[in-house]
Amino acid sequence: MGAGCSRGCASTEAAQTQAVVKVKPSAAEAEEPAPWAPAKKADEDETPAAPADAPAATLVVPRKPSEAPKGESTVYGGSSRKLTILHFNDVYNIEEQAREPKGGAARLCAKVNEFRESGANPLVLFSGDCYNPSLMSTITLGKQMVPVLNKLNVNVACIGNHDFDYGLENLQKLNGQCNFPWLMANVLERDTDFPYAGAGTIWVEDWNGIKVGIVGLVEEEWLETLGAVNVDEMVYKDFIEVGREAARRMKAKGAELLIALTHMREPNDRKLAAEVPEFHLVLGGHDHHYVSAFIEPHNNLMVKSGTDFRDMSLIEVELMAGNSDPKMSVERIIIDGSVPEDPAMKEIVDEYMKLMGEKMDEEIGESLEPLDGRFQTVRNRESNLGNFVADVWRKSANAEIAILNSGSLRSDMIHPPGVLKAKDFVSILPMIDNTSVLECTGAQVVAALENGVSQWPKLEGRFPQVSGLKFKFDPSKPPGSRIVPGSVYLWEFESEPEPLDMDRRYRVAVKEYLAQGKDGFNVFLDCKVLVDGESGVILPSTIKCHFIQLRVLNKWDEKKIYTRSLTARWLKKVKSVKSLDNLAAAESRFQRTSTQYYQQRSHGLAVPHPDQGYYCIAPRVEGRIVNVLEEVVEDLE
Ligand SMILES: [Zn+2]
Repeated sequence: MGAGCSRGCASTEAAQTQAVVKVKPSAAEAEEPAPWAPAKKADEDETPAAPADAPAATLVVPRKPSEAPKGESTVYGGSSRKLTILHFNDVYNIEEQAREPKGGAARLCAKVNEFRESGANPLVLFSGDCYNPSLMSTITLGKQMVPVLNKLNVNVACIGNHDFDYGLENLQKLNGQCNFPWLMANVLERDTDFPYAGAGTIWVEDWNGIKVGIVGLVEEEWLETLGAVNVDEMVYKDFIEVGREAARRMKAKGAELLIALTHMREPNDRKLAAEVPEFHLVLGGHDHHYVSAFIEPHNNLMVKSGTDFRDMSLIEVELMAGNSDPKMSVERIIIDGSVPEDPAMKEIVDEYMKLMGEKMDEEIGESLEPLDGRFQTVRNRESNLGNFVADVWRKSANAEIAILNSGSLRSDMIHPPGVLKAKDFVSILPMIDNTSVLECTGAQVVAALENGVSQWPKLEGRFPQVSGLKFKFDPSKPPGSRIVPGSVYLWEFESEPEPLDMDRRYRVAVKEYLAQGKDGFNVFLDCKVLVDGESGVILPSTIKCHFIQLRVLNKWDEKKIYTRSLTARWLKKVKSVKSLDNLAAAESRFQRTSTQYYQQRSHGLAVPHPDQGYYCIAPRVEGRIVNVLEEVVEDLE
């Protein structure tokens, strides 16, 4: 469970509603002037093109009475107009899961089709997060979601944080292949003021004779945590202000039903509903729990629809003649094993499952050094594989220190120098681990390290691999006092190690699992959470992104590298050197062999191949973790 869930789950599950009917208060909605109203070229004609299959306005054929949600008192017929909305968010695994509710794209699709076949002509809305994380996405970079969402006939989507996990280019490529618009109105490109990531801002369309207006809104909190895009290129605008302005523009375009499609935490969704009464509906993602509630004081409806193709919301809207306040009801639909699978969607899922097998032989990068992933190494001493993973991960998480429990490294073998294949990568990091960034004092860091070495020489998964840090431990001492006093140093790349200050607070990246106090890391429970698991970077994805960056670098193309990992900062330097036009010239300028030079500068994260010149990895053991007993032995030798 994510830290975010602990904020919202307990209190909101109680608010879960199976079916409710609401009549909006008829108090006049005062239209507020927009505090945020810069004249932006992108804003006037930003409404994305209608989906290819958008039907002309039609009359609603009511669902059969047996299908009506329990407790619903909607009166069909007469002069009312009706709209069915299907909403879902945060989907990761297209295949069904072992435990109920099994979910899976094929079942959700069958459910969507059920409403479509009943004549409801549903408006299908998605609140973001699909291109990552999943094991499949570490191989495909999220490509499988394009045919899946297209097959679901999604009409409009809002961008989520994990959609950026493999970089801006990847997101834009995939979004471009979707046959529906992706919205995100309150993040702009710094240079141009256009919406960031090529997103749309609002969508206004006639649906079943009701003019529907939708705006995509996100929160600032997760933007700051993105590991694979450059946040400096974005300008964030307050979602309340942008929401108000968007509502005004959508009303000006004739919209009668206003929807905020969002990717933010529940308290922010509630705030949006409370402060922007123009929105009849706030349909959110980012949280993975199911919740629906009418929000005071305006009684607008907020819904968040669970996660992972296991939940969907059915929202019925009815506009009565002569009354601009829609009557709305919501029903949670659980996608369990009793829901049949749609055969066409099942085919897509099966195809990708097969592709996963085939892709395992794909080359993802190259190492000049053997990578030692043996349990007898990673759970016992510093390992070059541990250094590499911890370094890349720490930089992506934008932390000063990373403490990786070695149980995360699963391959238990030495990977020989040379090409690394997808199957090597998956064997090293088969788990889709979320990252938390904690604020820890130096003393808390030491306490965590004490726990890490407490079981030595047992090959326990809590033994740490570290980045941004070096320390000595003495296993002859009792557990809890093995870290040699004064031996712990903060060690930012390219600078001299400095003693860890016991009172200073540091940004420490750990797996969410550790942040929850598992594996004896109780100390982390006392640390302030700066970035929670759901917002944090995904461990294997950061490593995959690193290899993608090396590949881009190898092409020497002029494309920007969208990253703030070590490579990005370091590449800038290389790029400035690149004014000398080629790597050989750069090398001669520094009068060193390239490998030595880059080895030192990059800790082996990006080192030119000595013969071919293209970039490889070459991590080494650097003395970050020193066992003083072994140190003595080495001295004697
Ligand atoms: Zn999210």
